Amino acid sequence: HLDRIAAVDDTVHAFLHVAGESALESASLVDASLDAGTAPASPLAGVPLALKDVFTTTDMPTTAGSRILEGWRPPYDATVTSRLRAAGITILGKTNMDEFAMGSSTEYSAYGPTRNPWDTARVPGGSGGGSAASLAAFEAPLAIGTDTGGSIRQPAAFTGTVGVKPTYGGVSRYGLIACASSLDQAGPCARTVLDAALLHEVIGGYDPMDSTSIDAPVPSVVEAARSGATGDLTGVRVGVVREMGGEGYQPGVQASYEAALRRLEKLGAELVEVSCPHFQYGMAAYYLILPSEVSSNLARFDAMRYGLRVDSGAGAEEVMAATREAGFGPEVKRRIILGTYALSAGYYDAYYGQAQKVRTLIARDFAAAYAKADVLVSPTTPTTAFPIGEKVDDPLAMYLNDLATIPTNLAGTAGISVPTGLADGLPVGLQVMAPALGEAAMYRVAAAYE
Ligand code: GLN
Repeated sequence: HLDRIAAVDDTVHAFLHVAGESALESASLVDASLDAGTAPASPLAGVPLALKDVFTTTDMPTTAGSRILEGWRPPYDATVTSRLRAAGITILGKTNMDEFAMGSSTEYSAYGPTRNPWDTARVPGGSGGGSAASLAAFEAPLAIGTDTGGSIRQPAAFTGTVGVKPTYGGVSRYGLIACASSLDQAGPCARTVLDAALLHEVIGGYDPMDSTSIDAPVPSVVEAARSGATGDLTGVRVGVVREMGGEGYQPGVQASYEAALRRLEKLGAELVEVSCPHFQYGMAAYYLILPSEVSSNLARFDAMRYGLRVDSGAGAEEVMAATREAGFGPEVKRRIILGTYALSAGYYDAYYGQAQKVRTLIARDFAAAYAKADVLVSPTTPTTAFPIGEKVDDPLAMYLNDLATIPTNLAGTAGISVPTGLADGLPVGLQVMAPALGEAAMYRVAAAYE
């Protein structure tokens, strides 16, 4: 994999940091323990992985795609990082991402865009474009991403790979640099559903270091993926969300989606139509809640504690202002300003309060739909991968990428994107969604479909 990275990553630019020698050393340690019979029991022991650069790692830099963290070395490992190490998984390096996970194309990385291996003039999606591209370019067999509004599932759809957003609280956020804490969730990225399931069981589960971590067993997703692989979905009720797909979706994506529904039926699934009338307000609510949390979370980058410091003037406030001015990119600044406004006295009820109410209505829509269906389906994204540069100056066009993925984050439930063929030569994703801790059903359907 290191050879493959050396051969293609000048073009793809999936990685911000490649571990090189130290990755080889850690792999040979696992090798030796496999030979000696003392290796970790994980079936993934010895398998290498690409880690999104938003997880802290003591032995590698961690930038979250931002200049403000350039050169910073974290003093501790994220729980995800330490669980990977404990399973004997070698971390190949850290992958490129939109700055602080805000974006849908990886063009908002301070370190230059990642290219889609299917067509290097196009984006791989974002914010986790580096992780998805590393899989599609065969630079890594496994990767980790984070999904706040779609950053695992949308890049998976754009690169023909598998990406999972677990139930909120299913994977620890300790050591995951926060974007929006009530939405952020780490999850597995892979080229097959079974690989994603194996990785899910390595990183998932209760962590006392994360106060929102769920104290319950990890759903048996490996068993579910294996049972789905038989291709029999008899008795499974698949909810087709009336408000997702159709108008606003690229014709090729819509055609792939309709073919996917027919295939699910052939596999024995029973299709039931469900309605989620409040999903149409999901984007508007998300773009109030997320910036509000961002404006608070990113206050910690004060020039004193981490990374960059621009020594511009006498006072702490001037140093802080100059550092944030130089260290944050335009999209991050836009969201900090929006969030600060939405949370200000006098506006809180009109914006943030209303958005929280919409969030509750969306969760109720899901609950009603899951009373009728075991899983829900939709296209993962309205379009296939778009050309680099096309949406970079049009925030609203960029935000529309996450139309179909955002409701799941707002409700704290689970979703997976699985490849469903090509439209005009580019990959399309099918999204399968499940209730909180209902991942087994979702993995079963995705594995049967794959
Ligand atoms: N693209 C969405 C945004 O810009 C989602 C990002 C994410 O999931 N981290 O907020």
